[in-house]
Amino acid sequence: MERKRSVYMDHAATTPVRPEVARAMLPYFSERFGNPSSLYSLAREAKEAVEEAREHVAAAIGASPEEIFFTSGGTEADNWAIKGTAAASRKKGDHIVTSSIEHHAVLHTCRSLEKQGYRVTYLPVDGYGRVEPERVEEAITDATILVSVMAANNEIGTIQPIRAIAEVAHDHTIPFHTDAVQAIGAFPADVDEMRADLLAISAHKFGGPKGTGALYIRRGTRITTFMDGGAQERGRRAGTENVPGIVGLGRAIELAVAGMPRNAPRLAAMRDRLIRGILEAIPDTRLNGHPTERLPNNVNVAFRYVEGESILLMLDALGVAASTGSACTSASLEPSHVLTSCGLPHEEAHGSLRLTLGYANTGDDVDYVLEVLPGIIERLRAI
Ligand code: PMP
Repeated sequence: MERKRSVYMDHAATTPVRPEVARAMLPYFSERFGNPSSLYSLAREAKEAVEEAREHVAAAIGASPEEIFFTSGGTEADNWAIKGTAAASRKKGDHIVTSSIEHHAVLHTCRSLEKQGYRVTYLPVDGYGRVEPERVEEAITDATILVSVMAANNEIGTIQPIRAIAEVAHDHTIPFHTDAVQAIGAFPADVDEMRADLLAISAHKFGGPKGTGALYIRRGTRITTFMDGGAQERGRRAGTENVPGIVGLGRAIELAVAGMPRNAPRLAAMRDRLIRGILEAIPDTRLNGHPTERLPNNVNVAFRYVEGESILLMLDALGVAASTGSACTSASLEPSHVLTSCGLPHEEAHGSLRLTLGYANTGDDVDYVLEVLPGIIERLRAI
């Protein structure tokens, strides 16, 4: 345990900006800094860069460029999809169907709508974190105006049967939103294949910059404007565009999707080696999430009799960055809503560890984690 390395295994939280992406962004800070809404050539250059990025995002998800709207990230895209649909369909109904394991960007948005008088059904999941399409069918009423289920879970990596869920919504002429923040670059996320009407993207999850994302809005979908102000984003989302960020998003999504056929199997092989190694070496451990319908980079395990935060601190002391609990809440004193929804008892939900791989991880990183983790768990259990 003396050897200290630096191993980053928290790619579901965020990823480093890829060098190619940073290079593409750089000129838009101080050389080509024009405001895309101005008319001279400096501004037109910025406008062209934004439109080129829009084409890359559209191509990556099988959409048309006019259906892509840039946002400040996944959180804003989720908020816009849900609040915008709720406001546009208020006369039609007041009921939303979502799942109990969504990211807080969806769950807290739904809670805030409940305070305004909307009703929300939070669907249960099975022990692997899957939403059964039949549950969606049962939850839909005449007042349902939106079904929102994430494509892949950020904590346990479970991939949902999105197309089947979307088809249930469409059978009732209800629009379908999916938070695809963790899906881009991990598996093909085509809006027609998935039957998505609204789809949220965040650049920093696949080698792009933080604070940049996009919402796909299928042509004809009823949704209100999210930000009022100037006429940017075709009058639907105001504010001078984050041009370098958008350029970075465009380049990152292009690289992530092009690299997927090579990267996803490589990550999945490392993931499987980690899972096998951990389960073999450490008793009283369980794998969280689905065994096969799972993000290629996600390992999530629960160790009985230990606290997740203690594991993280000891891993950090040995140079390994990982996460625990629902990952997005800083103080994870609350057990993870995802793990408890999957039926894990509170004591076990506290002892979870999430390791999420990225394209820069190597077999040596996997070996290192497998070398240090059993000792950490043993020491913590001995306390
Ligand atoms: N949805 C999911 C599934 C996520 O993992 C995240 C990021 N943790 C978000 C939404 C929010 O994205 P952003 O950080 O870009 O606001």
